[in-house]
Amino acid sequence: MGASVSSNMGIQVELGRKRYLLDPKGQTRADFAFVSHAHLDHMHRPSSTERIIASKETADLARARGYDLGDTLEEAEGVELLDSGHILGSRAIRIEDEVYYTGDASGRERAFLGRCRTRRSRVLIMETTYGSPEYVFPQTAKLVREVNALIGSAFDRGRPVVLMGYPLGKAQLLAYYFSSWEPLYFHDSVARMNAVHVEHGVDLKLGTRFDPAKDKDSLPEGPWVMVAPMSSSRSRLMSHLKKKHGAIFVAFSGWAMRGGYGSYLGADYAFPLSDHCDYAELMKLVEAVSPEVVYTTHGFASEFARDLRKVGFYARTLEAHQASLSDFLRES
Ligand SMILES: [Zn+2]
Repeated sequence: MGASVSSNMGIQVELGRKRYLLDPKGQTRADFAFVSHAHLDHMHRPSSTERIIASKETADLARARGYDLGDTLEEAEGVELLDSGHILGSRAIRIEDEVYYTGDASGRERAFLGRCRTRRSRVLIMETTYGSPEYVFPQTAKLVREVNALIGSAFDRGRPVVLMGYPLGKAQLLAYYFSSWEPLYFHDSVARMNAVHVEHGVDLKLGTRFDPAKDKDSLPEGPWVMVAPMSSSRSRLMSHLKKKHGAIFVAFSGWAMRGGYGSYLGADYAFPLSDHCDYAELMKLVEAVSPEVVYTTHGFASEFARDLRKVGFYARTLEAHQASLSDFLRES
């Protein structure tokens, strides 16, 4: 009996006599719930009946964000966790040599993060956030060079720079890549996530913690760098930093491949530093897993499934319908 895969309260996989809930979106009966990483859209309040599978790092990051995952397992019979390269502690899961689920995944090494590891599996369930051919990201080293040049020229003109990214994941990459600039400030929400990284052995500079509620007027004149959460430069804090200090705002996201992303945020510059696979890396990932069936989820799910079908894979999106391997067998 093959795996049955469906999307209801997250992704459900039934295999053998067990039910696995992958990145649950609510409470439903399952033997195991897998939390792939600690981004808030993946957080979960465990029920009393299921066992939670998550990495130690994910459990610690979740706790620092106010979510207690309870007793978590990093190992269970028939289950293998693999680094998914997305953020600290992010994991992909392989169940019974049959199903491989990526969660959010990155296909390239960045700073202290490795790339998503794969195993050959019959069923692949994958995120396809950037599953469209216009999203092929430039080399990270090139991007880091460009940003350093940009910060250098801002410093020459005595202007501070605010580097903006998601407070967990992107912000620590920014902290890692651009920590040679001083003075260096970390917005409070970023500093809290940095601290968990340091506890887990990631070499991040401490910098100065910036609490906008208390420290808004204590920033020095002249140039500095701050790593802050992604927010509109029209927000109260950002417009204060712009008006009083002439700060330059730089946003980091894969969506920066799309023209107009920076100006949409009111940022001065935007760079496509992403925590996800680009289109080419998604294709490579599929080839490495070499599956019979692919289910796509998130972002360009239907477009990517269509492209996979063109090159001979059986692929369909997981959203908006119930799908199972048995209906694959009927259709094929
Ligand atoms: Zn994520």
